[in-house]
Amino acid sequence: MSDFDFDLFVIGAGSGGVRASRISASFGARVAVAEEYRIGGTCVIRGCVPKKLLVYASHFSEDFESAEGYGWSVGETSFDWKKLIATKDKEIDRLNGLYIQTLGNAGVEMIEGRATIEGPNTVRVGDKTYTAGKILVAVGGWPTMPDVPGIEHAITSNEALHLEEQPKRIVVVGGGYIAVEFAGIFNGMGSEVVQLYRGEQILRGFDDDIRERLSKEMTAKGIDLRLNTNITAIEKTDTGVKLTLTDGSTLDADQVMYATGRAPKTDGLGLETAGVETAPNGAIKVDAYGRTNVESIFAVGDVTDRVQLTPVAIKEGHAFALTEFGNMPTSPEHDAIPTAVFSQPPIGTVGLSEAEAKEKYGDIDVFVSDFRPMKHTLGGSSERAFTKLIVDKATDKVVGAHMIGLDSAEIIQGIGIAVKAELTKAQFDATVAVHPSSAEEFVLMRTPRDS
Ligand code: NDP
Repeated sequence: MSDFDFDLFVIGAGSGGVRASRISASFGARVAVAEEYRIGGTCVIRGCVPKKLLVYASHFSEDFESAEGYGWSVGETSFDWKKLIATKDKEIDRLNGLYIQTLGNAGVEMIEGRATIEGPNTVRVGDKTYTAGKILVAVGGWPTMPDVPGIEHAITSNEALHLEEQPKRIVVVGGGYIAVEFAGIFNGMGSEVVQLYRGEQILRGFDDDIRERLSKEMTAKGIDLRLNTNITAIEKTDTGVKLTLTDGSTLDADQVMYATGRAPKTDGLGLETAGVETAPNGAIKVDAYGRTNVESIFAVGDVTDRVQLTPVAIKEGHAFALTEFGNMPTSPEHDAIPTAVFSQPPIGTVGLSEAEAKEKYGDIDVFVSDFRPMKHTLGGSSERAFTKLIVDKATDKVVGAHMIGLDSAEIIQGIGIAVKAELTKAQFDATVAVHPSSAEEFVLMRTPRDS
């Protein structure tokens, strides 16, 4: 047994930190994890989980309308924001409890408070210092907002999940995951939503067809999406905020929510005391195994700013534990990561966009299908679905798969396996379709778009 208090001290009990703690402990390591807020981290407490519950809640407005086409008379409906927030909070409490239980069962010591690094093997929490053979930093990220006059009157997704009242009029700034998801949430709940994006088209980095589709569908659902537009000033008013826009016009709203990216939460962590190298945005620099330049200090998850996704942080945390305490050197792979945007309609994507594939492979085939999901035929919604496969002509491998429409998030997980396994278009074609479904389009597209 070493002279250190612990074999591993983890800072941050989010997705990456919890997984690393639990798996390391299962190999016999003496593990402590410090958390300043609540065990579970961004995803469970103020990210993926509460967000998805709100997405479900917001979708009922459309579902009630569709129900009529199927013979149901739904009658008068009403929506109670406070009730939803309370039931959502109860579920988050339940999950938080499960996380605490899991760590406890694994024998991990949980320490409440903000930890700072005081040296390569020393961590302080409050007035106590602890020593550890290894320190793992898994503190995640935090929303960033630009330096606009009056920005203190704006909220982020953190506050949006706890608002006392549902905003009747909300302006959402940004064109990334969080902006499109929350614009859809508030729109579905009946708020008037304006979304402002500074560029030409939302979801930069996604496949262009998907970006355009989402933009159209969101507009069709009543979101006032304004491209090439930003805010230059925010003023507080009696009822909310007055925003001055880049075109000189003004806009009144109850709330303005910024979803303009998230940055590593490394401020005041003491990384410089231990000599840990960071990037200009504060991200901890790590190698493929999560090692920093200091031998005893490691990092996983959003704090490393590689891919800001929960399942990636979990994989990184798991790989760290296998490598450092399980004697199984493992580096998590960061290619062909399937991901979903819980916009309305949702998006599922894996692999390269058409533009990226063209750049990488030159000669590609693109297969697309544009259809009305069966549910909407009687339901009456005009929302369409769109699937797309991108194939490297030289090898016939499917290098990108994209979908927007009903159930995309569920469908892309399976397609993700096929793309990760580098299957060919011929193997997709040889797969029998599941009928009737939207997913079957992925094995039925036969004619390349440009042929
Ligand atoms: P993103 O980085 O995805 O998007 C940020 C958006 O804000 C971009 O549209 C960006 O524009 C815009 N922006 C940045 N700075 C400014 C500015 N100064 N003024 C106006 N607009 C600005 O960040 P998010 O906050 O949406 O999400 C953070 C991360 O969390 C995501 O990258 C994702 O990995 C993860 N996430 C994943 C989810 C999922 O898996 N479903 C859900 C939610 C979050 P531009 O494009 O021009 O740079």
